[in-house]
Amino acid sequence: MKIAEKLKLAHACANPPPATFSFEFFVPKTSQGVQNLYDRMDRMYDLNPIFVDITWNAGGRSSTLTNEMVYTAQSTLGLETCMHLTCTNMPVSLIDEALEKAYASGCQNILALRGDPPLDGSESTGDFKYAKDLISYIRKKYGDHFNIGIAAYPEGHPEEESDDNLLQYLKEKTDVGADFIITQMFYDVDNFIDWCAQVRKIGVNIPIIPGIMPISTYAAFIRRAKWSEIAIPQHFLDALDPIKEDDYAVREIGTQLVADLCQKLIDSGYVNHLHFYTMNLEKSTLMLLEKLNLVDCVKDSALVSEDLPWRKSLH
Ligand code: FAD
Repeated sequence: MKIAEKLKLAHACANPPPATFSFEFFVPKTSQGVQNLYDRMDRMYDLNPIFVDITWNAGGRSSTLTNEMVYTAQSTLGLETCMHLTCTNMPVSLIDEALEKAYASGCQNILALRGDPPLDGSESTGDFKYAKDLISYIRKKYGDHFNIGIAAYPEGHPEEESDDNLLQYLKEKTDVGADFIITQMFYDVDNFIDWCAQVRKIGVNIPIIPGIMPISTYAAFIRRAKWSEIAIPQHFLDALDPIKEDDYAVREIGTQLVADLCQKLIDSGYVNHLHFYTMNLEKSTLMLLEKLNLVDCVKDSALVSEDLPWRKSLH
């Protein structure tokens, strides 16, 4: 089922609509890692995410594995799945192959991305320049079969200096057929809410899904924020810096900080779905869901899908 439809259905069942959530997983490097991840995804199925998504390595490295994982998640585990697909350094033949396999898996959701340019600074050899070109291509070839998601950057993108340009490019991606937005991780919730207002002001009305990164250790928290070039609010640093050597305390306090952020997002009215960057782990995400009272609430609500009769056991 398409994500936008699933969200509409999930949010129509109560007033105010219940908050829902989804999980991102990345493609592991080893076959043992893949098997471990399938076990974890199987367990996380019980939390009833609206969808899961599987990342794509820019340029098509391990693309076969992304396709395999999409097939397993969608057809074997019974999880509604979204496949990431990048177009930088990708010949159209490889894009066609990936889309055909996604189609055959029963997957109806693609996160259409450009991908990061080659690290050595060389020009992309791909057939498409921007994500919007990939979106247009998917629409032309598959009509409405796929729901198409796009990436967005509330705190800017490293290659673009102008926030106004970035908003315009987001609008262009929507105009050529995007159905939902998933954002880069962030911790500055006030900036995010202002950004949502700007997105709506320029006439982009598709669902905005915030990317939420749980805090597991201090080092990973700092590293990921630096890598994503996002701001860390002072109150995060004030709370976490003095306990940075104590992983248990960092996880506890970090969970509270991110849960407060999520609650503020939901209260803002712009957001009723949270997308967790799980980093292929379940503990920190589960702690957040519990803190937000979303685990029992989801299990009790009409959102719980029946265990699919065809859902095959992995074991
Ligand atoms: P685009 O929207 O095409 O933008 C790329 C750059 O071009 C931006 O700087 C933009 O300002 C500029 N631009 C866009 N349109 C125009 C135009 N018309 N004229 C001039 N300039 C323009 N990467 C992966 O490799 N694999 C993944 O699985 C993956 N998943 C992601 C998931 C999310 C939620 C997010 C937020 C990012 C993800 N990325 C992933 C990273 C993403 O591929 C990079 O950030 C990439 O640099 C930009 O991709 P995009 O789709 O936003 O590109």
